[in-house]
Amino acid sequence: MSPRHHLGVFGGGQLGRMLGLAAAPLGLSCSFYEPSGAECPAALLGPILGDQKHSPEAVHAFLDSADVFTYEFENIDVGLVERIARHKPVYPGLESLRLTQNRLYEKSLFAELSIPTATWLAVNSLAELKTATSALGLPLVLKTTTQGYDGKGQFILRSTGDLMDAWQHLGTSSPLIAEQFIAFRREMSIIAVRDQQGNTATYPLTENIHLKGILSHSLTPAPEVTLSTQQTANRYIDSLLTRLNHVGVLTLELFETDNGLLANEMAPRVHNSGHWSIEGALCSQFENHVRAVLGLPLGATSCPRPTAMINLIGQIPERADILSIPGAHLHLYGKSPRPGRKLGHITLSADSHAELNQLMLDIARHLPNPMALSLRP
Ligand code: AMP
Repeated sequence: MSPRHHLGVFGGGQLGRMLGLAAAPLGLSCSFYEPSGAECPAALLGPILGDQKHSPEAVHAFLDSADVFTYEFENIDVGLVERIARHKPVYPGLESLRLTQNRLYEKSLFAELSIPTATWLAVNSLAELKTATSALGLPLVLKTTTQGYDGKGQFILRSTGDLMDAWQHLGTSSPLIAEQFIAFRREMSIIAVRDQQGNTATYPLTENIHLKGILSHSLTPAPEVTLSTQQTANRYIDSLLTRLNHVGVLTLELFETDNGLLANEMAPRVHNSGHWSIEGALCSQFENHVRAVLGLPLGATSCPRPTAMINLIGQIPERADILSIPGAHLHLYGKSPRPGRKLGHITLSADSHAELNQLMLDIARHLPNPMALSLRP
């Protein structure tokens, strides 16, 4: 079989851009299917193809542009991906894509693999929502089953008085899922990669701190994680990778509770909580994803020094302020500022979590307030 050198990526956002940045030193080129146009973050890294109607011409041009295909976002039209998959390999495969597009499928898969989650019920009507509040108790989190991200498509019911409000907000997006509200200690994620032969490599658990539903910053390795917690997370993600016959990176979001880890959701792709790995791991999530989908050996996933990732949301600080902090790395995505928009991130590593925290406080002085406030003094 001839060597493959061209990667086609569905999506041209920052994840596509960072995949392209990881592919370039390996001598691999990328093209991107991004109907929103040539102004997207990935435009720096390769041709931007595609149109809003997914016309045959646009799809053919994308098909011709690469040997193997992947995606940076799971909320894409499966039919579009199938049109490519009929002719050339797409990794991760269609089963990974279909399952992660719907929270009900995801939660059922977790149950099948004995991965614990919050207790949940499918909700198709106001009557079923009432039943769910009695069965699961309050508070309760009501979520859309598809298209939710960064806390969008969610409603927390705290009393039965919230029933109508919740239904008015989300009822039109039914079917919904109602989940028991989890008073977690913290949120974590585990990221792993599987190659075409079934070999896997797993990054250490990352602690994720959210603000208004959006990831604010993350710490890897998550501080004070016991060996048994790490092993449990490894077991969960391994069973998912195997069951899905997944090729590429898979991310599993977890709640750490007094009774152990609960799975929340997963993503069949590189993830914001893995951005630390660009400088913090021996081989980044982006490079490992590229390696896996192109049939290359996986790289090491260890994290030699504690590493933090701080998201830049809504505003971009002065470059020079950030770069004046020793060891700080700035990644800007080429996006114009808008409230709540992820515009870039900063990574830094230190010899200990205490030292890392100090460096993060130095960074926080240069960031807009909400982000700074969410850092622990
Ligand atoms: P999700 O879209 O499922 O990732 O949810 C976004 C955020 O909402 C999570 O990162 C949690 O902070 C919170 N959340 C989601 N589900 C629950 C739950 N069952 N209990 C408590 N908090 C939740």
